[in-house]
Amino acid sequence: MLSLRVGAKVWTEDRNLAWVAAEVTDVVGKQVHLLTSTGNKVSASPEKLLPRDADEEEEHGGVDDMTKLTYLNEPGVLYNLERRYALNDIYTYTGSILIAVNPFTKLPHLYNVHMMEQYKGAPFGELSPHVFAVADASYRAMMSERRSQSILVSGESGAGKTETTKLIMQYLTYVGGRAAGDDRTVEQQVLESNPLLEAFGNARTVRNDNSSRFGKFVEIQFDSNGRISGAAIRTYLLERSRVVQITDPERNYHCFYQLCASGRKDAERYNLDHPSHFHYLNQSKTYELDGVSNAEEYLRTRRAMDVVGISHEDQEAIFRTLAAILHLGNVEFSSGKEHDSSCIRDKKSNFHMQMASDLLMCDVNLLVAILCTRTIQTREGLIIKALDCNAAVASRDALAKTIYAKLFDWLVEKINRSVGQDLTSQIQIGVLDIYGFECFKNNSFEQFCINFANEKLQQHFNEHVFKMEQEEYRKEEINWSYIEFIDNQDVLDLIEKKPIGIVALLDEACMFPRSTHETFSMKLFQHFRSHPRLEKAKFSETDFTLSHYAGKVTYQTDTFLEKNRDYVVVEHCSLLSSSKCAFVAGLYSSAPEESSRSSYKFSSVATRFKQQLQALMETLNSTEPHYIRCVKPNSLNRPQKFENQSILHQLRCGGVLEAVRISLAGYPTRRTYSEFVDRFGILTPEYLDGRC
Ligand code: ATP
Ligand code: MG
Repeated sequence: MLSLRVGAKVWTEDRNLAWVAAEVTDVVGKQVHLLTSTGNKVSASPEKLLPRDADEEEEHGGVDDMTKLTYLNEPGVLYNLERRYALNDIYTYTGSILIAVNPFTKLPHLYNVHMMEQYKGAPFGELSPHVFAVADASYRAMMSERRSQSILVSGESGAGKTETTKLIMQYLTYVGGRAAGDDRTVEQQVLESNPLLEAFGNARTVRNDNSSRFGKFVEIQFDSNGRISGAAIRTYLLERSRVVQITDPERNYHCFYQLCASGRKDAERYNLDHPSHFHYLNQSKTYELDGVSNAEEYLRTRRAMDVVGISHEDQEAIFRTLAAILHLGNVEFSSGKEHDSSCIRDKKSNFHMQMASDLLMCDVNLLVAILCTRTIQTREGLIIKALDCNAAVASRDALAKTIYAKLFDWLVEKINRSVGQDLTSQIQIGVLDIYGFECFKNNSFEQFCINFANEKLQQHFNEHVFKMEQEEYRKEEINWSYIEFIDNQDVLDLIEKKPIGIVALLDEACMFPRSTHETFSMKLFQHFRSHPRLEKAKFSETDFTLSHYAGKVTYQTDTFLEKNRDYVVVEHCSLLSSSKCAFVAGLYSSAPEESSRSSYKFSSVATRFKQQLQALMETLNSTEPHYIRCVKPNSLNRPQKFENQSILHQLRCGGVLEAVRISLAGYPTRRTYSEFVDRFGILTPEYLDGRC
């Protein structure tokens, strides 16, 4: 019970700061008068106040583990992070979870070889909290228990997931690498896969100059001596729309700008120019990134390709294909002679068309034909239908997107093949770098998939935190049962259950040509009329709101059907699989058969993602997990700026506050036996005397 005498230290809610420190100045009936640390006199009712740790602890720059706080509550957690962040102590534990607050400035003293050496083999918790400590703990646990581990890194865009993942990989290659002088290629290949995947899968967004537009799970395999023996990379949901559509100040994928800056090496050879000449790049006027040289990055990507083992011939084909995509994007259409038909607009477009077909090494007339017409199978046989200008543009963009997506998949597969999988390895450490929970003003299919993934990971997290807590009590032989543990199985069922769940209904809608997002939403509301997790949005007939573990999110369904349909256009496949370039033909080698009934084949993006998540969860369930929650301290990407409200929201979304809640339901305050005796021994002097 909170003691509210005059002078008591408390937390009170604050509109701007979320919580503010205060001291009780008077208690009058049911109102407590307070003086806040910001100098304001306020009053509040006692149930709105939370107890606050004594100031001495704060003056020491906070505690390195939240469980050391006398009062483990929301403002205590927040304030502790803030104190530490001010001193550039960006890492803090909450039990076994590591919270990492993005410093937005280089902290080289934290990440050098000397630091790695210090953390090597040090008992967890002995040194200051650090990402290396988590990596080391997983490595030690793997070696001693002979059990695979996983490190799950999450957080919102720009929070530092990818940087953290790279530091983990750097550490693991350090402790699991061969002695200097030996062949270190596996480790180097594992490390060099990062810049390579970043060149093709990262882009500038409003939130982050180097935002990963895909999820990634890297599994590092070890032999029985703890040496790295192989690796496997799995990727999730690359954002395809970015290839053809961007808005200022975002950019397309880095590799395009690198290629344009490659000078005589490639750009000239492929008739490329400044990015402002290409439609897929000039929709946004942002071509450069602060502190980054596109030309130097191009060379770095090339070097990474060398290390990873991509032959020069394949490298040439990759950049040639990228150039083809840029030329393709510059092909414009005008109305054709016949009604609702289209043709290549002018000489300039013709030139780009010719360039695209030369670079892809396929017949230019056939390429024009597949963009401007569509073959439809009817009972009477095949008919060729002309496409109007808009449909031709859509066809062009669809082709560009699939070529790029296939190129990205090829790269991932190539890295996997080159690095090599150690199929005999029994012990692995998986590192997951996946988008955190998202809730924007407008949320579409992408947010739906991302939040679905987060629900899955949250379930895994809750089960784990809960289990760990119980384990702790069992070890200490403390009687404890915590039954009111939040379970999100119901929202997962709502999303993924078959035959009726959101994904199943969406797939069904995608398969019926007459379905629209209106009919899809109607069905959804019909089936789940009284579901506690789903509501119809107030001001729309088609938007739906899901109550996620991290809060409510309203999804606009307008583009759900279109985004869920991953059409493979048969004509695109047959043309490109016959390319004279083995690389391009290879991208399309698994093309559907030409004789297929329709010229489009539906495959569901959401269902494929669901299956991928299922496989990921199976892998994770067979490992011992470690969690790192990255936090973005402010929206300006600046050092030393700590925005309370947004950080609290992130801690909530990352399940940190839920972990605190689970902990609070048990025994949140932890003191070692000797600390306890030192502090409270005075209450039982006879016992202390006896002990001495
Ligand atoms: P996204 O979801 O958009 O991919 P992310 O969580 O992967 O975002 P990062 O790209 O890892 O975010 O980090 C964004 C930027 O923050 C980095 O480019 C870097 O400038 C800075 N940053 C992140 N972590 C650190 C760190 N430990 N030290 C210094 N700077 C960092
Ligand atoms: Mg990232």
